[in-house]
This record gives sequence, structure tokens and C-alpha cells, in this order.
Amino acid sequence: MSSPLPWQTTQWQQLSEQSQAKRLPHALLLTGIKGIGKTYFAESFAESLLCESHQMDGSACGQCRSCLLVAAGSHPDLTVIQPEEDSKVIKIDQIRKVITSVTLTPQYAGYKIIIISPADAMNRNAANSLLKTLEEPPGQALLVLSTDKPAHLPATVRSRCQQLKFNAPARNEALAWLKQQPTPIEQAETLLDLASGGPLEAIKLAENDILERRTSHFSGFNEIAGGNHEPTKLAAEWLKNGLKQPLYWLSTWIMDIIRLKMVSQPPRLTNPDLKADLQHFAERLNLTRLYEFQEKITETLRLSESQCNEQMLLESLLIEWKRLQKN
Ligand SMILES: [Zn+2]
Repeated sequence: MSSPLPWQTTQWQQLSEQSQAKRLPHALLLTGIKGIGKTYFAESFAESLLCESHQMDGSACGQCRSCLLVAAGSHPDLTVIQPEEDSKVIKIDQIRKVITSVTLTPQYAGYKIIIISPADAMNRNAANSLLKTLEEPPGQALLVLSTDKPAHLPATVRSRCQQLKFNAPARNEALAWLKQQPTPIEQAETLLDLASGGPLEAIKLAENDILERRTSHFSGFNEIAGGNHEPTKLAAEWLKNGLKQPLYWLSTWIMDIIRLKMVSQPPRLTNPDLKADLQHFAERLNLTRLYEFQEKITETLRLSESQCNEQMLLESLLIEWKRLQKN
């Protein structure tokens, strides 16, 4: 984190100058389309404000006590409010709790920062409860609201914030940035279009797509076990995306089943969302045979590097998986 995205330098500079002149407002409203990194910007700027030994350009050092706390998500003077799990709404209780905390003196020298994202997720009561703090903000408080739908916020809230507009990066710039990511995404151009030009949204779409494909592969895996699908047909379906990805998924499912077999509450699963189904297999299948099967997957992965008839390799694995069901 710690520094802005390449297309956010103007806004970054503007706030840095305000901050150096000790003229930062108490409330900021970051607007612009979805997926261009507004919340990322808010968090990076917060980190830089809290940092105890800035770089020359004002960005955070990433190493001081403050930066380490921010990285761990446990800095006492930085709170990020988002809808709670399974909810699309930011509720009044979430806002109230934080308002109480901003009135306290910062634990470290500096600001008490609250990021609300997406701010339009606040329901009416939540937004109203924020008003008072916006009208009479405590000395060192900085509220940062981020939204792609500013019109959904009450005018009273909007008018009390300094607005900072963000534009999507130029297409070339966005594509170049996507290419530099640790996991470059396939079909970056299409996804960027689908994301209306928001590069971070494009990454999210790519991740969702992978999740969806994994889920549909897992259905096939289940169907083979239940005798409701032909290994030949399924192998052909899976191979449409190459051999590596299905083998990788297959291997993570088997390893998760093995983990669940060893202890009922393993500390970590690669596919926690599939736990119920995997547990079901763990209860029925034989451990030694699961290990043998896992070895066979590894062997197939090795073979796939050199030769080979991919269809046959995958097919024989699926046949083996089917056999495994009969103890
Ligand atoms: Zn630092």
C-alpha cells in the first residue's frame, strides 16, 4: 500500500500539500467510478498520515510501528467501516461505535482516521448519526467517505465533505498496470471493458470468474463420485481450459479431504467454501487410498509436462476417483 496508484498522483499531491500546510479538512468524499482504487487511496493516505517516518515524497515508510500496525489491520487510530459480512448495508451501530472512539484522544500522535466504504451503503439512520460528527468534528478526526454513487448520500452529508474526484486511468495506462500485477489476468482487455475501465474492478471480475469455474468443476467432481457423469465426457469438458488448472483444483480438493480426515477442525483449508461437501467425502473415503490418489495427481502433473494424451491422462484420473468411492 503506502503510495497512490499511478493515476491518483494529482489527488495525492493535493492532499499532501494540504496536510503539510496543516489545512486538511475533517471530512473527505472520494468519488469516481467503481474499481479505480478510491478505497485503496484512502487507506494509503491514512497510512501515510499515521506513519512515524515518512519518505521524501510523503508516502509511508512501511516499517515503523505505525505502518506495521496498519499493515496488520490493527492500528488503534484507523478504522475502516464496511458493510458487515452477509449484509449490503452499513448500520447505525457500526457508525456509533466509531463515533465514540473518535472523540477519544488518538493513541499515537496524530490523527484518528475513519474510512467509510462504500459510503452509499450507510442506511439513513447511519448517515444521520454521522451528521453530528461532520458538523462538529473532534480536533484530530479525519473522516474519509468513498463512493461511486455520491447522489445516494444525503445532501447534508455531502455538503460537509471536501469532494475529491477520481477518474478512470486511460485505457493504455490501465492495461499496462494490469500487466504488471503479481498475477497477470487473462483477457485483460475484455475484463477492463466489462469493468467500465476500472482496473481494480477488472481484477475482481477475473477472480470471480476463476471462482465460478472452480465451482462448476467441483460439481463435475461430485457427479463422478455419485455416478452421474461419464469420466470421458467430463475430461473433455475440463480440458477446454487446459490440463493444469483442473489438476491443480483436483489436488486441492483431495488435500482438503485428507486434512478433514486427520482432524475435524483443520486450521486451514484451501477451499473453505466447499467444506460441507469435502467433509462428506472425508467421512466415507479411505485415507491410504486418498494418499495414493494424491500421488497419482502429482504424477499426472509431471507427465503432462512432457508427452502426452491429455484426454487419457485426465480420464484415467477421473475413473480412479470413481473407483475410490467403492471401498
Ligand atoms: Zn511508517
